[in-house]
Amino acid sequence: MNINRRDFIKGLVGAGCAGLLTGIDLSKASAQYFTRSGNPAAPTSDDEHVFFVKEAMFYEDMGQKEVRCKLCPKECEVGDRERGWCGVRENRDGVYYTLVYGNPCSAYPDPIEKKPFFHFMPGTWAFSIATAGCNLNCKFCQNWEISQSRPEETKNFQLPPADIVATAKDNNCKSIAYTYTEPTVFYEYMLDTSKQARKAGLKSAVISAGYINPEPLEMLCENVDAVKIDLKSLRNKFYNDVCEGELQPVLDTLKILRDSGVWYEIVYLVVPTLNDSEQELKDTAKWVYENLGPDVPLHFSRFYPMYQLRNLPPTDPKKLTDTRKMAMDIGLNYVYIGNVAGDEGESTYCPICGELVIKRVRYFIRQNDLVDGRCKYCGEEISGIWN
Ligand code: SF4
Repeated sequence: MNINRRDFIKGLVGAGCAGLLTGIDLSKASAQYFTRSGNPAAPTSDDEHVFFVKEAMFYEDMGQKEVRCKLCPKECEVGDRERGWCGVRENRDGVYYTLVYGNPCSAYPDPIEKKPFFHFMPGTWAFSIATAGCNLNCKFCQNWEISQSRPEETKNFQLPPADIVATAKDNNCKSIAYTYTEPTVFYEYMLDTSKQARKAGLKSAVISAGYINPEPLEMLCENVDAVKIDLKSLRNKFYNDVCEGELQPVLDTLKILRDSGVWYEIVYLVVPTLNDSEQELKDTAKWVYENLGPDVPLHFSRFYPMYQLRNLPPTDPKKLTDTRKMAMDIGLNYVYIGNVAGDEGESTYCPICGELVIKRVRYFIRQNDLVDGRCKYCGEEISGIWN
């Protein structure tokens, strides 16, 4: 049997490492532990797995019980009793199912700044959920124990959308964040939860790599309030070699977001030697400015050795400072530095008068001098969703 590196690592982490991010006492949830059987086929009444299967929304019948998934650019062709690349969608007799609906492996209240969103409801908490699985495999992933696992390898909760909304409200969260892993792979769960959240007066924030097809993205945009996209590089080779993906679909996603009216921010993790050349960073800032305009927040974040890139050093903070200045010189109004606690690049400055309008330290607001979304010193409107 051939075992590739991804499967090997998944085998190593198994059930023991999964669910590390779960921390809240979910009084409304019934925790349930799923052990590994190695059998991905349909559960029977005596099967040790209990998946809350739901038919997937975006796929097409290819005949002879084969399907093609249309959710993300990988467009997996999946035979009967097999799963797509992300490991959380399964073909049963020619019907395609999601195996993670209502089954998060992580559920935790976080400051919205941790996502990071800096221009979206500052100082509020987001009830943050994730399921197993991802449609990329980034070699620097912080959450690889769950993103590169199948749902039977993680410790999961039974939390249907209504329970997520109720638990978020109980924990005084103003929004629900779909995060930690790639929410595209739990699309149906995210979509239904966001609809119920809106009815209950909660907002929804998606934290994604943007590797999703246009049709599901446009439907999602009608139901969520904010999206953060990890733009991992402006080079297709980086996406191929480091993430097992492609660049162009992510750029297409950003343009769809630009036209959708949904609030969005961009994070670029600066990885030493791999995507940190002056030319590439300049190309990225220019692409954002020319294609998305000056007001989209762009966060340059510090890399720390992680997962399969433990051989590289952390990003030099000076590199981030220089990159921020370069991007602001190009014309971007809101450029931030991430993962460097206390840096002035964590705060927001008015692009007209230059005054400090929101002071942040790590994930917390220390001072907020916006009045109805405007600079209190000169009255300039600061782009974002502030209430
Ligand atoms: S969502 Fe999963 S199954 Fe569907 S195309 Fe993407 S990787 Fe394949």
